[in-house]
Amino acid sequence: MACKEWQLHLEDYRLATRVYDLAVAALNSGPEFKRAWENAEKTRQDCSRSRAALLHHEHEHACVKGTERSAATTASDTKGHSGG
Ligand SMILES: [Zn+2]
Repeated sequence: MACKEWQLHLEDYRLATRVYDLAVAALNSGPEFKRAWENAEKTRQDCSRSRAALLHHEHEHACVKGTERSAATTASDTKGHSGG
């Protein structure tokens, strides 16, 4: 069973993807495109950060069993330190 902290990470990740989804939905060919694009990029990085945090927790804490953990963690980067 995944621990509470893992569930918080998951929540974070889910939220981040929703924000990203909205940011991408706001993209259009108007004059604000560049700004909207940069905003979408920022939210995309948030997604990848929260995803990395989730996978990192799984790796360190090993509280999630019976998932495709090994497949997921090999894809994540191990260069660590996102600061904060
Ligand atoms: Zn855990």
